[in-house]
Amino acid sequence: MVLLRNLRWAPGGRAIRYDTIPEESSHGGQPGCRGSLQCQREATQMKIAFIGLGHMGAPMAANLRKAGHDLVVFDIRKEAMRKLVAAGAGATASPREAASRAEMVITMLPSSPHVRAVYLGEAGVLSGVRRDVPLVDSSTIDPHTAREVAQAAGRHGNPMADAPVSGGVGGAEAATLTFMVGAAKELFEAIKPVLSQMGRNIVHCGEAGNGQVAKICNNMLLAISMIGVAEAMTLGVALGIEPEVLAGIINTSSGRCWSSDTYNPYPGVMQNVPAARGYTGGFGANLMLKDLGLAMDAARQANQSVILGQVAQQLYLKMSAEGEGSKDFSAVINLYRKP
Ligand code: NAD
Repeated sequence: MVLLRNLRWAPGGRAIRYDTIPEESSHGGQPGCRGSLQCQREATQMKIAFIGLGHMGAPMAANLRKAGHDLVVFDIRKEAMRKLVAAGAGATASPREAASRAEMVITMLPSSPHVRAVYLGEAGVLSGVRRDVPLVDSSTIDPHTAREVAQAAGRHGNPMADAPVSGGVGGAEAATLTFMVGAAKELFEAIKPVLSQMGRNIVHCGEAGNGQVAKICNNMLLAISMIGVAEAMTLGVALGIEPEVLAGIINTSSGRCWSSDTYNPYPGVMQNVPAARGYTGGFGANLMLKDLGLAMDAARQANQSVILGQVAQQLYLKMSAEGEGSKDFSAVINLYRKP
């Protein structure tokens, strides 16, 4: 197992040197113990700064606390820190203070400007963090910003990973998130044990920025496939077929996809999905709109056409403009259903 405290950012260069030590000695366990779960847990216990304690960040930080880490937290909303402080975390007054007290920094913020401010701002992470301390941003932001902030961190002597997640608030609470990680391979291996305490699938997507690339491409496809299923389901019903029958055919035929077999937007077809409860809960259309905006910006920078992504963006924009943006994104089907 690789211990984070053995991370080294080579002075003046981009290369990272990692000193790994044998499992027996790395976790300080009994002689002969080759990394039992308990010993591995002990080995990864450390002082972690967690910044951004919203819908996702608060339960993620709570899971790290439960795993035994010594947490320091910061959020611009004081009330967001209260629950974690009650669970034993230390409150801080700025990202700088939080980072200065940590062996690892994790952020979970709304969007790119927040990430820039928290890392590069006057009282930001880089103004207080010690060299070599690894930085992990789990916010969903554009790959360009992720790479810029990672480069600034590198110049400061800190290895940085982008690690956006999928799985929603439920996944954050149950520690079953998927992390899409953009980082040097060695950094990925080093932070994986901590990410595993908040998630189930920890996937290395390549160098810095690639976690965000994976995230926005997946969500653009999801946005498009949901509209496709909505369109096919409403056409079928308008032509006279029962929605359950049509869904059954699609789900055993070539039209099958996650939007049809796990999250069907047509009411009555499935239990325990937002369509079964008036499109409440789930993944809000406004959040999908944010991710589509990131995908469109990234596509422009790459000079890559995303025709269906753009159409999808317009449809979710229409939904949002009609005051439906806080509903689950599968409510996009209501744009097709006749009153
Ligand atoms: P949120 O708005 O609930 O939480 C963001 C938190 O960051 C808030 O508590 C806010 O006060 C805090 N914050 C804002 N600026 C700050 C600053 N300068 N310093 C410190 N704290 C600051 O958002 P969320 O739903 O937790 O989502 C966080 C990120 O995760 C977003 O990028 C989102 O796109 C992504 N995401 C969300 C979901 C979801 O289902 N909510 C799922 C996957 C990914």
